[in-house]
Amino acid sequence: MSVQWFPGHMHATKKAILERIKEIDVVIEMLDARLPGSSANPMLAQLTAGKPTLKVLNKQDLADPARTALWLAHYNAQPDTRAIGLHAGTVAPARALIAACHELAPHRGGMVKPMRVLIGGIPNVGKSTLINTLVGKRATKTGDEAGITKQEQRIALADDFYLYDTPGMLWPKIVVPESGYHLAASGAVGRNAYDEEEVALELLKALKGPYGAQLEARYKWGWTAEAVARCKEDELLTAVGRKRGALLPGGRLNAQKAAEILLTDFRTGALGPITLETPEEHTRWLQAALQHEADLAAERKARQAARRGGSRAAPGTA
Ligand code: GDP
Repeated sequence: MSVQWFPGHMHATKKAILERIKEIDVVIEMLDARLPGSSANPMLAQLTAGKPTLKVLNKQDLADPARTALWLAHYNAQPDTRAIGLHAGTVAPARALIAACHELAPHRGGMVKPMRVLIGGIPNVGKSTLINTLVGKRATKTGDEAGITKQEQRIALADDFYLYDTPGMLWPKIVVPESGYHLAASGAVGRNAYDEEEVALELLKALKGPYGAQLEARYKWGWTAEAVARCKEDELLTAVGRKRGALLPGGRLNAQKAAEILLTDFRTGALGPITLETPEEHTRWLQAALQHEADLAAERKARQAARRGGSRAAPGTA
């Protein structure tokens, strides 16, 4: 089983972005720095293709700085693209984002040609927090309730700088199974879309190699990072549960409780700074998924051709 996430159509969002995009100078795509590849919405990139883009790796306070550097280099190597890491609640870096937009569209600015920026990102990525930080006390908008469609909002950050909030919801799109697990672990998809124990086991698979020492620091098993890396995921989940008293009567593991403890520790940053994927890994997963899709399409075509051949042959052979 993988993470099943079908939060509904995004036709209205798509239409609204297409209507707005013509007059947009820069697109800000907000990503979760702990899972930059998985937290992207491919539809946003498609609809805004050709526009200068600023990738904002938000929640960088929760992410692994070494991996954030890899992702920033990855995005900065793409044409017409800049990337910055951000903690959306901090004022000075948020203002630096305005400067980055001016660098991406140097011909815009001044009252005659104000800068027009569209900001988009999957729910819970920190868009409202960033907007609140940018506009200060005047902002009244709070975090989105999942499932509630928003109206487009235009926010004047200066006399010549307008920020357009994406209308509608940009739900995450699960292209590869790993992304489904990472989105679920981060809390970006609804709880009833996944099995917590399964997501916890996948999270441990991503953590035990690079972040064994951080797991040990949190749960104090008395193991080396190498020993943690050698453990199977279910052994680690059991070890989390035993250490934290997630037990059923008779001393058996309460796997559900152990999974919840691990997921909460990850989401709140109690495990220390963590990034679940590198650009190289995510590219590899994506290529494998695309290849798989292409193989399936080729098989389908071959089956259809065989059927057509069969039906043509049928009258003659009867
Ligand atoms: P939105 O759905 O994209 O508008 O997301 P919100 O702005 O409502 O943020 C979702 C949650 O993430 C809230 O609990 C925020 O406090 C938290 N958050 C947003 N930005 C950051 C950040 O940079 N670091 C941390 N640690 N939490 C953040």
